[in-house]
Order: sequence, then C-alpha cells, then structure tokens
Amino acid sequence: MADKITMQADGTLAVPDNPIIPFIEGDGTGVDIWPAAKLVLDAAASKYGKTIEWMEVLAGEKAFNETGDWLPQDTIDNFEKYLIGIKGPLTTPIGGGFRSLNVAIRQIMDLYVCLRPVRWFTGVPSPVKEPQLVDMVIFRENTEDIYAGMEVEAGTPEALKMIELLHDHFGWEIKEGSGIGVKPISKSGSQRLQRAAIEYAVKRGRKRVHWVHKGNIMKFTEGAFQKWGYELVREEFSDVAIGWEDCGGDPGDKILVQDAIADIALQQVLTRPKEFDVIATMNLNGDYLSDALAAQVGGIGIAPGANINYVTGHGVFEATHGTAPKYAGQDKVNPSSVLLSGVMMFEHLGWQGAADDIITAVEAAIADKVVTYDFARLMEGATEVKCSEFASAVVDRL
Ligand code: NAP
Repeated sequence: MADKITMQADGTLAVPDNPIIPFIEGDGTGVDIWPAAKLVLDAAASKYGKTIEWMEVLAGEKAFNETGDWLPQDTIDNFEKYLIGIKGPLTTPIGGGFRSLNVAIRQIMDLYVCLRPVRWFTGVPSPVKEPQLVDMVIFRENTEDIYAGMEVEAGTPEALKMIELLHDHFGWEIKEGSGIGVKPISKSGSQRLQRAAIEYAVKRGRKRVHWVHKGNIMKFTEGAFQKWGYELVREEFSDVAIGWEDCGGDPGDKILVQDAIADIALQQVLTRPKEFDVIATMNLNGDYLSDALAAQVGGIGIAPGANINYVTGHGVFEATHGTAPKYAGQDKVNPSSVLLSGVMMFEHLGWQGAADDIITAVEAAIADKVVTYDFARLMEGATEVKCSEFASAVVDRL
C-alpha cells in the first residue's frame, strides 16, 4: 500500500517502498519531459522493489486553466503533507500576482536551499577543454538577498517615501527617479544554509567548502555571510571542518572551509575547477554561478536542481530550465534535467542504487551517441532521437 514519506525525530526521512510523491508536470515542454523522466524513474525504482505512487498536483497554466489559480493552495498543501515532490518547468504568469511560481513555491514552503550539483557526463559536448574536472555542488540561499522581492518602483509614492526616509534617518542621498531594492541577509538564514552545506560535505565525503560572497564591497550583508560561516565552523563543526585562517590552508583530515570573492570565483571555477567542491552562497551570486557552471558541463538541458528545507524535511526537486515554449508538445527536448532531478530525489530518499543505475544508463546512452537535438547538433556522428526515445534508450541500458 502506498504511504507517506515522514520526518523522524532524529531528522532523517522514513521512506516506505511505495511512497506517494506529488508531481507538477510543468508547462510548455513539461508534457514531453515529465512522462519521459517518469518512465526511467519507475523502471529504475522497480529494479529495487520500489513503486512510486505519483500524485499529480497543479501549478502554472494547467492549474490556471482548470482552477483559475496559478498556484492552488491544494498544491502547496500536498507538497507539505507528502514532504518530497518534483516539478517540471513553469511559465511565469504575466500579471498573475507572482514574480515567479518557482520563487513563490520556494518562499511559501521556506525551502531555503537551492541545491545544484554540477558535474560532467562522459561524452556531453562542452565548451571547455577539461569538463571532467567540474564536479561541484552549489548551495544557493533561496529566501533572502535581493530576490526576497522587496523592491519599490521608481517614481511611486513608496519609492519617494523610501528616499525621504533614507535621507532623513541615515543621511543617504539617493537620486530622484530611483527604484530601490532591499537586500536582507540574516545570521540565521546564512548559517542554516552553511550548516546544510557542511553537513552535505561530511555525508558525501567532500573535501572543501567555499563561501562565495562579495563582502569586500557589501560588508554587512555579504561580508557578514562570510564571517558567520567561519563562526559556524568553529562553533559547530570543529571536529570535522576547519577554516582557512585557522589552519593556514592545511586542514589535515578535516574539510577545508575557505571563501572566495564572487567575481574571482566566477573566473576560478572556469580556470581552476579542481579547487572547488561544495560552494555555499547567497541568492544572486548563486544564480549566476549555477548557470555559468551548467554551461561548462553541457548546458541547461541537463542541469538538475532541488529546493530543500533540511529542518522540516520538505523538498521540491525540479528541472532548472524554463518551459521552452517553442518546442512544447514536439517530443523533442532533452528530458535529462528533470530526470536527473529525479536522481537527486532518489539520492535524497536513500535510493542510491536506483540513482546510480540511472546515471550509468544516461552515460551509456550518451556514450553511444543516442541523444536529443541539443547534443546531436554539437556531436559528430550522433543519432538524434526524440525526447521519449531518449528515455527508452536509457531504460534499455538500465
Ligand atoms: P527556457 O525555457 O529555459 O529556454 C531557453 C532555451 O534553452 C531553449 O530555447 C533551448 O535552447 C534551451 N532549452 C530549454 N529547455 C531545454 C531542454 N529540456 N532540452 C534542451 N534544450 C533546452 O527559457 P526562456 O525561453 O527564457 O523561458 C521560457 C519560460 O520559462 C518563461 O515563462 C520563463 O519565465 C519560464 N522559466 C521557468 C523556469 C522554471 O520553471 N524553473 C526557469 C526559467 C524560465 P535552443 O533554442 O538553443 O534549442
């Protein structure tokens, strides 16, 4: 009988063999990539005696057409009730009352970590010479920073009031006609992300953690993030990790925690990828970094992601690309982003065998040059297959 995934008192998940997992199919190419990914996930799970009871929940255009609501409360309720869910890409509604449905789901459910592993799969076309050196995991903060949505539009009474207030209370001169955004970075928000990054490094045997920040300029937000990160290492992780300044760069057996200024980090992940392992950073830096890194290993058609609250146990795994509307319903695009998000979900559930099998099978399909259009156009001698055919090719290699 299908059952719920639950959070145990020790902070780990109890996962039945037949878990109920809510999914959002996704708009645009969601109709193509979701069934393809599901085919592979079900086949891999069944090898280990597991059966997922998929429960469709609505968001985006499908939700709007059926319920008049872009993000029905029922969807959030089910994600909350069943803890772990997965989603395809969603259209950003114009004038729907949301800046982005993805951001809304993250913020409503307080999914404070945006987790983006970035690694290369043998054979995937890449613009860099040694893509195999890229094996990083980005922890991007999801709820604070400039994306928190605290902005006022230039010329509005709110903006004028803000300008006046900042002038009167702080003596700050802000040009008339300015829009203003607020960038909150809290100690608790920073440290819960940093804690998750170090715990991940410990669990997965990773050797380095970087705090990426722009603290040389924004001292009390990004600089504080860096400072709080090192404090956390000393206070909570001194048995397993050590900060650069506390060990002179020689961590012994411990995880080395260091920091890098965001602009230099963007250069160095390209020029010295071997030196980066786990990266924790604030929202905006993480946005740039994860897309730049995804490009190094083959682009967004293959980049997976997840949004997780490690305290409550909630997680929504997701394709990182958009809805690619020009390809919708053509059975054409690469389903790997949502499929590999499913692999992350399996790893999170402790289904490592099924996760590993899918990775091996995806690699085998790519090695055989059986690929969708996005890779085929960059590979010599490739056999271009449809989205669903790629999924079948992966299942054949499981
Ligand atoms: P997009 O949908 O990500 O598409 C941009 C390009 O990326 C596509 O034209 C295609 O490149 C490539 N691409 C996307 N998905 C692919 C896949 N599965 N396989 C291979 N290539 C893929 O970005 P957009 O056109 O800027 O955004 C469209 C809509 O998606 C907007 O409403 C946006 O708000 C929304 N969006 C949603 C999410 C999300 O739900 N997470 C994220 C970003 C954007 P080629 O043209 O080169 O083939």
